[in-house]
Amino acid sequence: MSGIYIHIPFCKQACHYCDFHFSTSMKKKDDLIPALAKELELRKDEFKNTVVETIYFGGGTPSLLTNDELQFIIDSVYKNYKVSDHSEITLEANPDDLSQERIIELSKSPINRLSIGIQSFFENDLKLMNRAHNANEAKSCLEEATKHFDNISLDLIYGIPGASNSQWLANIEMALSFGVPHISSYALTVEPKTALASFIKKGIIDNVDDEQAHDQFHILKDKLETSGFVHYELSNFGKNGYFSKNNSAYWQGKSYLGIGPSAHSFNGKQRGWNVSNNAKYIKSIEQNELPIEIETLTHTDQYNEYVMTGLRTIWGVSLDKVETDFGMDFKDYLIEQSEIFINQQLLYIDDKHVQVTKKGQFLCDGIASELFKLN
Ligand code: SF4
Repeated sequence: MSGIYIHIPFCKQACHYCDFHFSTSMKKKDDLIPALAKELELRKDEFKNTVVETIYFGGGTPSLLTNDELQFIIDSVYKNYKVSDHSEITLEANPDDLSQERIIELSKSPINRLSIGIQSFFENDLKLMNRAHNANEAKSCLEEATKHFDNISLDLIYGIPGASNSQWLANIEMALSFGVPHISSYALTVEPKTALASFIKKGIIDNVDDEQAHDQFHILKDKLETSGFVHYELSNFGKNGYFSKNNSAYWQGKSYLGIGPSAHSFNGKQRGWNVSNNAKYIKSIEQNELPIEIETLTHTDQYNEYVMTGLRTIWGVSLDKVETDFGMDFKDYLIEQSEIFINQQLLYIDDKHVQVTKKGQFLCDGIASELFKLN
């Protein structure tokens, strides 16, 4: 099982919190699309013996591409790779791009899953984050999308300064009212050099509050779990049969190809990342050169990676897998390091899997780093 991630590095405007790679100028779009197709062709041998199960358009804002442009890229995937008949093909889309007409058009394309960047149904939250859509667009696009797509995920952000717990609960209830089978939710984080960081520094916006984020994470978890969702990864909740195949593959250490500027790739042993610059990316691909830097993971890096991702999921970290893939000393080390967290009721071991408890979940990444080994 493997996946192809395609990065579309354009956005209408910059959200205040975002540090992803994107450009608000569409000038390079016409050169970028053939470059993506060419990178797909140049890298086809990397997946020579592999069946592609997932294709994921992420960004940036992939819904800024027309259907013909998306179809052109999908055709390049099919031309160069073996694609499963049951592949999951996801488009990240923003509500302001999802008119009724566009949704109908998309439903007739090979795209069979939408991941919609709602973030909040409240005008004040959307303004604070500088999202390009408004609350009405958030609702109307979901109303329409659910008529034409069965597999829909939406993103929500919690821990927004000024957003009370009751407003957060209202956001979750609004999301549930559309009957979507998957929700991804992230805490608002303040990344350096973003507009949000600068507004907080100047006192224009209150700083994010860890305690508020912690409480809202638990409100989310409780509400979604009692509404039939499985909390299968720290930031992801899905009804049975609707877990994201694309993301599950990342968390289970499967291979993926990252196509496009700033996209990351992984083949089990090596991690690669493409240059985060649209012009440099296009120029390099036009010269038949992959603009990629590659790092080979050591045995210890691979263990750390597995612990980090495994702990975030309901599958946990398998002691048998650690023993088979990394050796007995790694397994003993993991059990020994876990003990202190087990005593604090933050971790537990069940059926030979190390897992976080409900209390430990919000602290998961910090706990994982304490289980890492040094190279
Ligand atoms: S739309 Fe997405 S990628 Fe673009 S600026 Fe906003 S959060 Fe970042």
